[in-house]
Amino acid sequence: MFWDTNNETLDRSSLEKLQLSLLQKTVERAQQAPYYGELFKKECITADSIKSLDDLRRIPFITKDDLRDHYPYGFLAVPRDKIVRMHSSSGSTGKPTVIFHTMSDIREWSGLIARCMYMTGVRESDVFQNMTGYGLFTGGLGFHYGAEQLGAMVIPVGAGNTKRQIMLMREFETSVIHIIPSYALHFIKSLQEAGIDPKSEFKLRIAYLGAEPHSDETRLRVEAALGVQAFNSYGLSEMNGPGVAFECTQKHGMHVWEDNFLIELINPTTLEPVKEGEDGEIVFTTLKREGMPLLRYRSKDIAAVITEPCPCGRTHRRLTRIKGRTDDMLIVKGVNMYPVQIEKTLMAIPQVGSNYLIQLEHKDYNDHMIVKVEVQAEMFHGDMKELQTLRKTITESLRSELLVTPEVELVEPGTLPQSEGKAVRVVDNRKQWG
Ligand code: AMP
Ligand code: ZN
Repeated sequence: MFWDTNNETLDRSSLEKLQLSLLQKTVERAQQAPYYGELFKKECITADSIKSLDDLRRIPFITKDDLRDHYPYGFLAVPRDKIVRMHSSSGSTGKPTVIFHTMSDIREWSGLIARCMYMTGVRESDVFQNMTGYGLFTGGLGFHYGAEQLGAMVIPVGAGNTKRQIMLMREFETSVIHIIPSYALHFIKSLQEAGIDPKSEFKLRIAYLGAEPHSDETRLRVEAALGVQAFNSYGLSEMNGPGVAFECTQKHGMHVWEDNFLIELINPTTLEPVKEGEDGEIVFTTLKREGMPLLRYRSKDIAAVITEPCPCGRTHRRLTRIKGRTDDMLIVKGVNMYPVQIEKTLMAIPQVGSNYLIQLEHKDYNDHMIVKVEVQAEMFHGDMKELQTLRKTITESLRSELLVTPEVELVEPGTLPQSEGKAVRVVDNRKQWG
């Protein structure tokens, strides 16, 4: 049941002791990086001066901007020769943030992914089809190396080319997939259009959904359509990528691997810790990374810690689903909302298809929210009244979730832009108004 029994089930006080000693080593290593060398000198921080986990709070937070400002090598803590790989975050604006790994970092990261996969029931006999993009994006190579470390057979197909995905899945009896949730919904639609019943024609049993916010409703759709158990996989490039927090078979919250990452949850405005169980921005500290240790990195992701121990026996705390990113939060007509609330509402309505788009406009001194929703094709060929009723139902459900009434536009499947990578769900045309 456990990949690494000793570490996954450590009692809390032993886990915290381990964290402290790893934190001290991290501070020592980080000192070699130009950014931290200067900072630690200024703040009089040395490994010896970190006497408890609370001492971490003497170190200032860092953000993506700090990584950008010291691009490319300002956070590198080992000679460049020791680096064997770089990855980059998927942000589309400005300079990317780049993360460097030593060979030992790659092994640690792969070990974490192997741990996640083993936890959810994957074994050597499994065939793993990795349906996310390879390249600088961490979901491809991250899962690839993890699955190999576990001993599963990997099909490194990457994202897209649905026909080839289906052919490989069928011929090699794929049992486990890793896929971005928005592409999973699109893939399911393509199977339906091709008249393929995945439950009888494939041998799938597990799907990992990650890399973008999604709701339980989406998980349920994927599980029902593919006949799989679907697990939420969370990570960010700055903390390697996937393998940071992952659902166990309880499917109730994601265990954060606290022997590799220290987490704090803070109020993003006051920067003070939130009470355990309350929503906060997750702040991460790497505990094992050599190439590029990062301390107190503000992820911008909002979640809460689940306070009860997990029945699976693992002692590493769980995070709720990511509720959104502080920079993804929308303010429409003065009301705060996260795009995932819209996804959750739409995916609970059976006639809603696999894609949607949120468009924001500013007209006549007012915000307008238009939600374009793909609905099943047959809806457009039948009674128009049914379409009107559905539009009303969707509008009403969104209104009660968001407390804002959007304009709902129903469109035929395939109308809205489809991405194989992370989906772009929001087009905010108000920005030109400043
Ligand atoms: P990147 O480093 O470019 O791969 O992006 C990492 C970001 O993707 C995270 O900070 C989250 O905002 C988002 N993300 C990754 N996995 C999940 C997940 N399972 N649920 C929600 N958001 C996620
Ligand atoms: Zn658990």
